[in-house]
Amino acid sequence: KDAVIGDVVKAKLMKAKKNYGYARLMDIIEPSADRVIPKCRFVRKCGGCQIQELAYEKQLEFKEKKVKGNLERIGGFAPELLERIMEPAVGMEVPFYYRNKAQFPFGMDKDGNPITGFYAGRTHDIIANTDCALGVPVNKRILELILAFMKEYGIAAYDEKTGHGLIRHALIRYGFVTKEIMVCLVINGKTIPHNEVLIKELRKIPGMTSVSVSVNRKNTNVIMGDSYEVLWGQGFITDYIGSIKYQISPLSFYQVNPAQTEKLYGLALEYAGLKGDETVWDLYCGIGTISLFLAQKAKQVYGVEIVPQAIEDARNNAKINGIGNAEFYIGRAEDVLPEYYRRYAKEHPGETAHADVIVVDPPRKGCEESLLETMAEMGPDRIVYVSCDSATLARDLKYLSGAGYELVRGRAVDQFPMGVHVETVCLLSKLNTRQHIEIDLSMDELDLTDAEKKATYQEIKDYVLKQSGLKVSSLYIAQVKQKCGIIERENYNKPKSEDAKQPQCSPEKEKAIKEALKYFGMIRSS
Ligand code: SAH
Repeated sequence: KDAVIGDVVKAKLMKAKKNYGYARLMDIIEPSADRVIPKCRFVRKCGGCQIQELAYEKQLEFKEKKVKGNLERIGGFAPELLERIMEPAVGMEVPFYYRNKAQFPFGMDKDGNPITGFYAGRTHDIIANTDCALGVPVNKRILELILAFMKEYGIAAYDEKTGHGLIRHALIRYGFVTKEIMVCLVINGKTIPHNEVLIKELRKIPGMTSVSVSVNRKNTNVIMGDSYEVLWGQGFITDYIGSIKYQISPLSFYQVNPAQTEKLYGLALEYAGLKGDETVWDLYCGIGTISLFLAQKAKQVYGVEIVPQAIEDARNNAKINGIGNAEFYIGRAEDVLPEYYRRYAKEHPGETAHADVIVVDPPRKGCEESLLETMAEMGPDRIVYVSCDSATLARDLKYLSGAGYELVRGRAVDQFPMGVHVETVCLLSKLNTRQHIEIDLSMDELDLTDAEKKATYQEIKDYVLKQSGLKVSSLYIAQVKQKCGIIERENYNKPKSEDAKQPQCSPEKEKAIKEALKYFGMIRSS
């Protein structure tokens, strides 16, 4: 942390692991050529930004590399393929002031004055700062007004340790297109004393549309309460992504970087390649953002989302946009789609449920394998995978490419400049039927005892050495063969005594051996 790629630094080792360690930056001996002066003076203390001191184009490069690295290592995709199909990361022209939402914690300083800002990295110590460079400038005015109000009326901030005090957080949302503003105060009590004064002050801010409170009296890290009460104005603000209008309430999920979201959804739409007569599924649809984007170009869109409130928002958003070809289901994607598929087969004997395009945008943990299986069975022409974690993306793409799909395009979109997270969109295309049949046939014909005979251990060793420069032992080859389901000779894989530990083949060597097995036709190449 705090060092950037290319720095020469003096660091203090905090924790040493076998293959990596943690260190604290002590001194920059020679700054990297890519180091820049940060916009925010709290950059090292604050937990919000991680790479603000790295030049923005290098941040994009770093994120692109991270995605490619995961697709290569976890997904097993060849670097040459990735070089060819991955398009350059989509960045922002001005990578600051982009967030449309912020939740500011409140606390008290040593002198008993209310403060607000952000948590320091990995702690709940508040760094007083009303002027975060990622948020919209109007946040400062709103926060200072709330602090002055608290001071004036002696209203205390909530203290996590004692459970006393009233004001916990301020949620501020801003509609970049409509300029509408929402303020929702999260409180540890029923009401805010003298709230009419606060409302009067907040209303003076141009664009103020919604003032509300959300009661949260639990001792928890969850910020918002379960519900909210409107104090003034309406319960939501409206904003646009492209030409689609969305109503956003204090509890709705909504992408935080609207400018980049429009680019992200634009790409998802482009990858979906819609002509107007397609049936599309949008799994993990949230408030229907991608669904409604797609509905403009498709015949029918089905959205699936686990949070009932989000589905309510999605249906409402479809209504206010006059979109009649989007239908939404509440439930887990891994339940709803397989159930739909089974029900369809029952009701239409001899037929299978069809989708032309399936879009998924799962949370960080990615998709359940059972869902991927049904997706592949449904056999859409294209699958568009929107991901916020390239490691689980790589894992899931690996599954899909073993199930008749080919990765044809991919692109990182920088939704979080100055932070390390990155969003990625990938397009998978169904392999044509002829290729599919050939693969199936060769699997059927694969006689395991026959495969065992196909290449000698020496031939495999020679091939691995020539291709990857790695020396592999017969034991390792035997281990990999066994993993691949090829019957193994007794002598290599039996430990000499019951509790003897065998050395295990490294992932790198395993990969190289598998390549050789594929080359000799002993396992399926997928
Ligand atoms: N596509 C939406 C939301 C993506 S975030 C957008 O761009 O706005 C991921 C969404 O998946 C969240 O709304 C979350 O509530 C939902 N989710 C999480 N697990 C799920 C599951 N198993 N099945 C369906 N939806 C799920």
